[in-house]
This record gives sequence, structure tokens and C-alpha cells, in this order.
Amino acid sequence: MIAREWQFPLPEKKHKKKYFGNLKIEVIDTGLCCHCAACASICPVEGITAGDKPIDFPNWVKDCVDCGACIKVCPRWDYQPLNGIGEYIEITSARSKRFVGQDGAMVSEITASAIEMGLIQAAIFVGRDEEWRTKVITIKSPEQLYDRKITGTKYSYADVLPALKDAVIKYESVAFVGTPCMISAVRKLQKAFKKFERVKLSIGLFCTENFYHHELYEFLLNKKGVDLRNSVKTDIKKGKFIVRLKDGGKVSFPVKELEEIIPPGCKVCQDFAAVESDVSVGSVGSGSRFSTVVVRNEIVKQIIDYIRENDYAEFSEPKLEIVQKLCNYKIKIHPYPPKKKEEKEGEGKTEEKGDKE
Ligand SMILES: Cc1cc2nc3c(=O)[nH]c(=O)nc-3n(C[C@H](O)[C@H](O)[C@H](O)COP(=O)(O)OP(=O)(O)OC[C@H]3O[C@@H](n4cnc5c(N)ncnc54)[C@H](O)[C@@H]3O)c2cc1C
Repeated sequence: MIAREWQFPLPEKKHKKKYFGNLKIEVIDTGLCCHCAACASICPVEGITAGDKPIDFPNWVKDCVDCGACIKVCPRWDYQPLNGIGEYIEITSARSKRFVGQDGAMVSEITASAIEMGLIQAAIFVGRDEEWRTKVITIKSPEQLYDRKITGTKYSYADVLPALKDAVIKYESVAFVGTPCMISAVRKLQKAFKKFERVKLSIGLFCTENFYHHELYEFLLNKKGVDLRNSVKTDIKKGKFIVRLKDGGKVSFPVKELEEIIPPGCKVCQDFAAVESDVSVGSVGSGSRFSTVVVRNEIVKQIIDYIRENDYAEFSEPKLEIVQKLCNYKIKIHPYPPKKKEEKEGEGKTEEKGDKE
């Protein structure tokens, strides 16, 4: 339940319906919803559902208490796309010497170091089950990050923000890792609800798009003959979606083949670099097994200094122009407002998507 201290001025309605009805008309039915699940995390009657389905509130006409919280925290209400690399004080390329992750495991390294420095008590991560369904995990000690199912990228939506809501009630200092839309949602949550000031570290991931797990799973199984249960890693590199298999094999195909299952809310997003994060981490701009790290504030600078002092990572020069290229590319492929069908005709997509050095 939302505590009294979490109350805020009511947002303005655009339709004569309850607030969830407004969210449905303006954001969900228009295909703007990015599935960040901020609304599901904050709904006082816990009526809004997320998971592996589009955001919904099955009995909203009856059960919505019309508090307006869902709209207050929605990053797609009155949507103004963010884009570019964003403000930063340092950009580096690095590889953790302690952990194995998707790229340089710098998300894990930054989190572990922040715990050791006493900056955070817990961090919300996204692990997975055997079928690569996302599973939200609370990290309280660096040792948990040796589990390869907890580190690494899962190309599916995850209910990070509902878990973050529980964490800010329980802990005084919390970190979370999320896609750019989740970062923007948490900035709104922090403005609206005092408890979210307990989020001391927001680690944003570079992102081009995300998927519903069942759609990605079925696509891979039915169109590529790949059962995700047999895979150890999924990746997007140089315009290819790559599945690495337990038997050492690899299946790779152009990522543009996934176009039909890209959710509409991702197709209006221009924020590649998670510009509102404290630190952004991604693959592009760095060599193999390194992560590009965009340090946006002094606290993260202190964490990176701690990593350097303890020799926990190897550092290198990033290729900033490649990060910039992907930021520009995301603006180009996701125009806002979206182009009409006839405007799109003849504008074939390039192979650049998800490019990496
Ligand atoms: C949906 C998605 C799309 C991405 N697209 C791009 C891209 O186009 N270009 C690019 O350069 N990088 C992209 N990334 C980021 C990249 O895949 C790596 O996550 C990043 O380089 C960090 O690697 P690492 O080795 O430092 O992280 P690790 O130390 O391996 O940690 C990975 C972190 O990612 C989190 N995570 C995994 N899956 C999810 C998820 N579904 N939702 C939220 N958090 C998750 C885990 O909790 C963990 O904290 C994307 C990531 C995601 C989740």
C-alpha cells in the first residue's frame, strides 16, 4: 500500500474516466507504453499487471481507486523522447577482473564495488530461468554475482520496478539496473514518492529494443529451430542476433528479422544511452569482452576510482564516435511522432542496428 508520505498533487485528466482509463487511452492503446512497469509498481491496489504481457488492469472500472499515481510516474504520459549520449564526466571502456558478464561485466563490477564501499545495501538485478524467462533478483553481496544466470543480458521485459518498490521500503540505499525507459520511470518515481530517494545508484543499459519473452522464445523455436533451453548466451552484435548453445554451436541471423516482434513502445524510443542514469553501460564503443561505461556523476566517479585503486578492472579507450553513431541511428529508426505507413515506404533499414566494433 502507498504510505501517506507518498501523496502528491493529482495529474490532470485528459478524458472523463478514472486515471487508469486515461493511461489506457493515451499510452497503452496508442502503443506508446514501454512496459517499464512503473505503474504496476506504484498502484496502491496492486491491480496493474506487467510480466510477459502488455500492461493491463483487468478490473480497472471497478477496482481503480483513481489516485493518479500510474500517470504521475509514467514516462510515456505527455511523452517527449530523450536522446543523445547525455551529460557525462568520463567515458571509459573496461573489463572486470572479478566477474564474467555479457560484455566486460562492468555492471556487476560497479554494483559489487558500490556494496563494498557501503554506498548501497542491495541492488535489483535480472536473472533468468532455464527458458530464459526473466527473474528479478535482489543482490546483497558481491558473491551472488558469480552466478552466470544473474549477470548477462536477457532480451525480455523484466518486472524490475515492482521489485525496486519493495526494496526501497525495506532498505535505505538501493541500486537497480535497467533499460533507458526504466531509468526515466525511476526519475519520475523519485519526484513523486519520497521513499524512492533511497535509490542511490541507477545503472542504465544501452538499448535498442526489448521483447516479450514468449514472442522471442517462439520466434527462435519456430523460425530458427533454436530452443532457448539449450543456450548459454544471447547477444546482438554487428546487426546479428546470436544464440550461443550449450554444445558449443552458434545460431546467428540478421536482427532485422525480429522486426515483427519488436513491441510498439520500443519503436518510439530514441534513448539509446539511458541519458537519465547515474552511469550507463553498453557494448558498443568497446572491443570484445569490454563494456563502455558512461560516468555521469561524482558518486559513480568515486566507484570507478575504487575499482581502479583495487585493480578490479582493466581499462581501455572507448570509441565515442560509435556510441554517437548508435544514438543517432536510434533517432533515425524511431522517429517521434511515428511516421505514417506511406512515409516509411522505400526507407529500407540498414544493417547498423546493434552494431559493435
Ligand atoms: C533489452 C536490452 C537491449 C540491449 N541493447 C543493447 C544495444 O543495442 N547496444 C549495446 O551496446 N548494448 C545493449 N544492451 C546492453 C548490453 O547487452 C549489456 O547489458 C551491457 O553491455 C552490460 O554488460 P556487462 O557485461 O557490463 O553487464 P553484466 O555485468 O553482465 O550485467 C548485466 C546486467 O544487465 C541486467 N539485465 C539483463 N537483462 C535485463 C533486462 N531484460 N532488463 C533489465 N536489466 C537486465 C542484469 O540485471 C545485470 O545487472 C542491451 C541490454 C538489454 C537488457
